[in-house]
Amino acid sequence: MKKLNLLKNFERYPLTFGKTPIEYLPRLTEALGGKVDIYAKREDCNSGLAMGGNKLRKLEFIVPDAIAAGADTLVSIGGVQSNHTRMVAATAAKLGMKCRLVQESWVPHEDAVYDRVGNILMTRLMGADSRIVDDGFDIGIRSSYEEAIQSVKDEGGIPYGIPAGGSVHKYGALGYIAFAEEVREQEEELGFSFDFIVVCVVTGSTQAGMIVGFKADGRADKVIGIDASGTIDKTRAQVTEIAKNAAKLIKLGQTITTEDIHINPDYAYPAYGIPSNETNEAIRLAARTEAMITDPVYEGKSMQGMIDLVKKGFFPSGSKVLYAHLGGAPAINGYSYTYRNG
Ligand SMILES: *Cc1c(COP(=O)(O)O)cnc(C)c1O
Repeated sequence: MKKLNLLKNFERYPLTFGKTPIEYLPRLTEALGGKVDIYAKREDCNSGLAMGGNKLRKLEFIVPDAIAAGADTLVSIGGVQSNHTRMVAATAAKLGMKCRLVQESWVPHEDAVYDRVGNILMTRLMGADSRIVDDGFDIGIRSSYEEAIQSVKDEGGIPYGIPAGGSVHKYGALGYIAFAEEVREQEEELGFSFDFIVVCVVTGSTQAGMIVGFKADGRADKVIGIDASGTIDKTRAQVTEIAKNAAKLIKLGQTITTEDIHINPDYAYPAYGIPSNETNEAIRLAARTEAMITDPVYEGKSMQGMIDLVKKGFFPSGSKVLYAHLGGAPAINGYSYTYRNG
C-alpha cells in the first residue's frame, strides 16, 4: 500500500527510538489453541526515557506546541500510579522544563508501598513537583488540574497544560495516527496485513488515533478497544469526539461514524485499577509464555480481553491479531501483595 503521509503538516519532537518492533508470540499463540496468530507491537519498549510507553508517542506531537508557547512548566494530571504523569515528568526533564503534577486517588487500592514505588517513584526522581489529592477516578477535565495551571501562573511561571492521558489535547490523537502509518510500513516488510488490532482504552486518544489512522485503509472497525475504565459511556463518548476532531484536523476527507468505533466493556470489572482473577490469570499467562509483562490496570485487562475473545472464536480461524502493548509495567510494583506468590 502506498504511503499515505497523513501527518505531513505536523511537527514531531523525537522522544522515542523510532519504529517499535512487531514480534510474533509463538508460545501464547500455541497456548490459545494455535488457530489465531498473535503478534505484539511493543510500544512498551519505545524509548529510553523512564521506561517509555504510549504517552510518549502522543507527547511527540504535543511538545512542539509547548515549545512554541514558550512554556517553562508542563502541568498534568493522573492517578497516583499514572504512567502518563511519569511520561510528562520525563519529557519535562528531557526538555529542561519544570513539571507540576496532580495525582488523584483513582484506585481504591491499599498496598503498603502503592504511593512510593513504580511510576510515582520515577516521577519524583525526575524532579517533578507531584501533589497527591483525594479526588476519585474521572477521565474528564478536573478543577484540581485547572488550579495547578493557575498556581504555576501565580508563581510567575509559564504553564503548558496537558490533560489526563494527553487525550483531549488538540494534538492528542496524532501519535496513534502515526502508529497506524508505521504498522502499514511494517506490513509491507512483513508481507501480510493484520486482521485485527487489540488495544486497551481509558482516556481514549490511543484508540481514537488508531481509528483515524486505520480508517484511511478501511480498517477502523478492526481496532478492538478493550475498556479498562469501567466508565464505558464516558470513554466511548470521548473516543468518538477525539476521533472525529482528529479526522478533521488532519483533513482525512472521511467522517468517523459510530460503526468505526468498537469498544468492548466486558473486562473492566471490578473497577479501574483493580484486577479481577481473570486479569491476573491473563497477566500470568503472558508472563509465563512470552516473558511479556502486563500490568493490572491496563494491559492486563486488554490481554484478558484478547485471550477471552480468541477462546470464544471472535477472531476467525487464521486471523492475524496485533496486540498493542502500550507499556505500564512499572505500576505492577504497587501490587506487590497481589503477586506475592507469583
Ligand atoms: C494510558 C494507558 C492506556 C490507555 O490509553 P488511553 O489513550 O488513555 O486510552 C493503556 N495502557 C497503558 C499502559 C497506559 O499508560
